[in-house]
Amino acid sequence: MNLIDISITTEWNLCSGCGVCVGICPKHCIEWKREAGMYQPVINQNSCISCGSCASVCPGLKHQYEKLPDRAAVQGNVLLSCNAWSKSSDVRRISASGGVVSTLVHQLLESGIYDIAFLVDSYDYHQQLSTKPVTIQEMKDVVSSSYPKSRYLPVSHENAIAYVKNNRMKRVIFVGTSCAVRGFKSAVKKLHLPEENYLLIGLFCDRVFNYNVMAYYQQPAFCGEKKLENLHFKNKESGGWPGNMKFYFSDGSIAYQDKSERTKVKDYFMSERCLYCIDKLNVCADISLGDNYTQQDSSPLGSNSVIIRTEQGLAAWERTASLLESREISVNQIMEAQYVDWRLNNLCYGKLKEQEILKKTGQEIVLNVNVMTNRKTQEYQNRWKSNIQMLHAGEMYDIHPEELQKQMVKNKKKQKPGMIRKLFSKVYHLIR
Ligand SMILES: Cc1cc2nc3c(=O)[nH]c(=O)nc-3n(C[C@H](O)[C@H](O)[C@H](O)COP(=O)(O)OP(=O)(O)OC[C@H]3O[C@@H](n4cnc5c(N)ncnc54)[C@H](O)[C@@H]3O)c2cc1C
Repeated sequence: MNLIDISITTEWNLCSGCGVCVGICPKHCIEWKREAGMYQPVINQNSCISCGSCASVCPGLKHQYEKLPDRAAVQGNVLLSCNAWSKSSDVRRISASGGVVSTLVHQLLESGIYDIAFLVDSYDYHQQLSTKPVTIQEMKDVVSSSYPKSRYLPVSHENAIAYVKNNRMKRVIFVGTSCAVRGFKSAVKKLHLPEENYLLIGLFCDRVFNYNVMAYYQQPAFCGEKKLENLHFKNKESGGWPGNMKFYFSDGSIAYQDKSERTKVKDYFMSERCLYCIDKLNVCADISLGDNYTQQDSSPLGSNSVIIRTEQGLAAWERTASLLESREISVNQIMEAQYVDWRLNNLCYGKLKEQEILKKTGQEIVLNVNVMTNRKTQEYQNRWKSNIQMLHAGEMYDIHPEELQKQMVKNKKKQKPGMIRKLFSKVYHLIR
């Protein structure tokens, strides 16, 4: 397939909204358009010079999974694996997990090892989230800053790409989910930038919500007559880590919903591209980390599981060691706790997507996803199709959120614990 531009990414629902294409475009001719709860790049064909830069760095189109199905590719390189958390209880309290990302970023900026970091400072469902440049002046201390915590939405990294393009010698900390890290790496390669200038902090990621999820929670079942102003998926204030959902209403009041609510909804409001991703542990980063779901070191204040993957990651880790508590654990413990094996199902979905594109266009698209030979293709075909239907249903119910609630209740009644769930009409839950 001649990948001239990223129109193909959006046409085939392969966009993760990472914004790398927008940042690299030499003509600045890619804009965002909200569609089906995702911000999607749209090319202004009048100014496009068909250089192909956007498609060449797009992580939605290319994932280099290499030698699968062995576990090594899902695990990635490991120099050190541990559980860790900030020594400061205040930092832990305001962060997503154990505050390790914020501690690393702050320490590395303060010591002058890195010049700038790209972080998110807002949480808004009505406009696209983007990372912003942050220096030590802007992040004097972690606790009073607005950067910590996870935003479970697609985030654009266009500003980071534009920055490294124009500031070749600056040393930059990049924080992102696996698609963003892969896109950033491709851009660095494409632009012939010095790789050693960039520290890639990769967040573990189990699929991302789309922006339509806010409409769902605006329903009377959750909000009564109140207008929902904002929603945080994980907040430690009520019950500590891993955190319940926090609702902010326009009259200034707040409410909490049990964490089980967020997991019910994810399957309906997510990016289709996440169905084809197997890289939960962010294998291309220098340091990958997520919540600590292992049996050890758990605390209501939160802690991280960390995998140091490169020498550059190790150097950054050692620089920050005095501010962190850590205990070595095996990478297997992390993988088990993160249920990464389930991710291998996505390989089959990726292969099915490839086949669909090939059938319809006669052209080949490289998702570089292999199929495990012992899988029953028909079963996966059905499951994948139902997942796509479900996502489409999510779009439909964005207009009628009450309808989705009814469908979910109906669906829940039909589910029998311990039995394989069958495909029901339009809405279907993933089998875990
Ligand atoms: C979409 C998403 C899905 C995740 N899924 C999992 C999972 O399945 N399992 C798991 O163990 N962990 C998951 N994580 C990681 C986890 O939520 C924490 O982000 C991670 O453990 C770091 O915690 P911390 O306390 O060290 O981070 P903090 O100190 O709170 O800092 C978080 C940093 O991440 C940046 N950030 C927040 N959201 C984004 C974003 N969407 N894109 C780019 N940068 C961002 C912030 O600016 C901040 O600098 C996910 C994170 C995200 C964003």
